[in-house]
Amino acid sequence: MAEFDLIDRIRARAVVRDDVVLGIGDDGAVLQVPPGRQLVVATDTLNSGVHFPVDTAPADIGWKALAVNLSDLAAMGAEPAWCTLSLSLPEPDEQWLDGFLDGFGELATLHGLALVGGDTTRGPLSISVTLHGLVEPGRALRRDAAKAGDDVWVTGTLGDAAAALALLQERHTPALAMVCEAGPMLPAAAGQESAARALHEQLQARLDRPVPRVAIGRTLQGIAHAAIDLSDGLLSDLGHICAASGLGAEVDLDALPASAALRDAFQPPRRHALQAIGGDDYELCFTAPPKMAGRIETIAADAGVPITRIGRIVPGDRVRALQPDGQDWVPPRTGYTHFQD
Ligand code: ADP
Ligand code: MG
Repeated sequence: MAEFDLIDRIRARAVVRDDVVLGIGDDGAVLQVPPGRQLVVATDTLNSGVHFPVDTAPADIGWKALAVNLSDLAAMGAEPAWCTLSLSLPEPDEQWLDGFLDGFGELATLHGLALVGGDTTRGPLSISVTLHGLVEPGRALRRDAAKAGDDVWVTGTLGDAAAALALLQERHTPALAMVCEAGPMLPAAAGQESAARALHEQLQARLDRPVPRVAIGRTLQGIAHAAIDLSDGLLSDLGHICAASGLGAEVDLDALPASAALRDAFQPPRRHALQAIGGDDYELCFTAPPKMAGRIETIAADAGVPITRIGRIVPGDRVRALQPDGQDWVPPRTGYTHFQD
């Protein structure tokens, strides 16, 4: 299959929007930015074996490539509009592409997001998406706007994706996966395999199909001071808000929200490590003045997604995780960083 056949296949499935003056097929796309809106642009690359396990299903890769970018726009409080897709493929594999477009298209359709261009090359499997969104002038949620005394909140639950990854790695290379001392608590006894498998599948779904909190991000305009999406781990990402805002934060370890599956699969202290420093959550972390608590609870109820107060912004320059007795919790490592030893 030639490059142009692949592009035709991609074009046939792109979402149509009125504000795409010229989409896939020319040297550039022409897009109509509505008057009085600002453009928000985010880009993220997924490399095989780095950002997803090599045996990940093509549809899950397609979903995730878009989800991680939508999560960035969510954290800006922006409304997604258009995207471009840069694909590096080892070979022109029609079946792989169709699977990929299933997952990509499913999420694009949910958000009315038009694919307006891209690039297709031969090389190691790598997917790069650039997303364009719209925001009311001056209303984007930024990292540098936290204020001392703000509460710190997170959407959804934390640690499931990291738990799934840890379980995968333990199956292949047990030594790599030890985030901290205690092992997983999956029910391993004879007859309990199906329960263990069901648990693992729930965790795995959070790794493969993260749900970007786009609608919540939109409604946080005028309520949140600062926001970030959680890709590298809570403590690390909250650290970015603190550094940009010139402040510190305290997080209550016991307050971190956990799914039922994570509670069943991992006990503290390992569960706490997965929640506080595990990556790939794609939840929103934001700060807001305490008087906004009621409105945030309403947003959570309307969205059907828990939003949990996990700490506060304080003067200083570091993020402390506190145990119930007020002692500092020392993480085994901080969030995922590329290029570190
Ligand atoms: P050029 O050589 O001018 O860059 P290409 O041959 O790379 O053009 O691409 C032709 C058209 O197909 C362009 O409009 C480009 O944006 C689009 N395109 C190429 N690859 C992709 C892709 N993976 N997804 C979406 N559009 C693509
Ligand atoms: Mg090109």
